[in-house]
Amino acid sequence: MTVSRSWWIVLGMLAAGVGCRSAAPGALRTAPPVPFATSPTPVATPAPAPASPTELRNDDRLGGVLWQQTSAEYRALALATFARARVELDRALADRTATAALEQAGEYAVLPPAVVADVDETLLDNSAYEADRIRVGGRYEPVSWNAWVERAGAPAVPGAVEFARYAAERGVTLFYVTNRAAALEQKTRENLAAAGFPLAPDLDTVLTPGERGWTSEKSPRRAEVARSFRILLLVGDDLGDFVTGARARPEERVALAERYADRWQNDWLLLPNPYYGSWERALVDNQRDLSDEEILRRKLGRLRGSE
Ligand SMILES: [Mg+2]
Repeated sequence: MTVSRSWWIVLGMLAAGVGCRSAAPGALRTAPPVPFATSPTPVATPAPAPASPTELRNDDRLGGVLWQQTSAEYRALALATFARARVELDRALADRTATAALEQAGEYAVLPPAVVADVDETLLDNSAYEADRIRVGGRYEPVSWNAWVERAGAPAVPGAVEFARYAAERGVTLFYVTNRAAALEQKTRENLAAAGFPLAPDLDTVLTPGERGWTSEKSPRRAEVARSFRILLLVGDDLGDFVTGARARPEERVALAERYADRWQNDWLLLPNPYYGSWERALVDNQRDLSDEEILRRKLGRLRGSE
């Protein structure tokens, strides 16, 4: 039985009210129906044991992480996106009236050119971190994330370094607008440099929340770059890397993306992220610290079937 087939079977069992979050290795244990209509009753339960390779874990991230790590399709899409980014870069360089940033204003035609890119799942591939979390039955949390970032060993997304160097060779400054914490900025620089990304020697191009009063909302940082540079392209994996409003309900997010349909065909370059981001948090109403069962319940509730 393949992992993906097992996952679907487990998901189907959950939908039928059969819990298997703590199933013994290699076994599916029948449990009482999960009371989806009400909040789970808090009970003292021991911490889940680390998953063994044979344990069937009902994890909503498994397909997405494996797609990023193993699929030819992910690699092809990333390479194609950065190939198109090079074409769009040349076009925008030649047209001094062009800007990719909604925040750009004033006489920007005379400003030097820049690209604003996100870091995680845009330039650096952190799927190994998520894989580790899946294996231990945990989700993203700051302690394990910080430890991962401190290692400064995330590999580059396919095609990203080649694009970044292409831009640098043409005199374009690359700004890294990331929601990694300011305390992790130096390790992020080290990781970017080790992966082959260019970093300006005399300018802070890694812009994090916590600096200069910035928050995780990226628009003020785009505005800051736009004061001194003409922004040719935006590159990201999340709607928030392009426009304010990513933390809305799923339907509103889709409407926001459609409002800028022309941008996606030109100077907004989007990498796929199938396992986390504001799209995923919108499915659980932007609530954190939900149980795995509650996350799955809300996601199942968002499925659109044929009836
Ligand atoms: Mg990202």
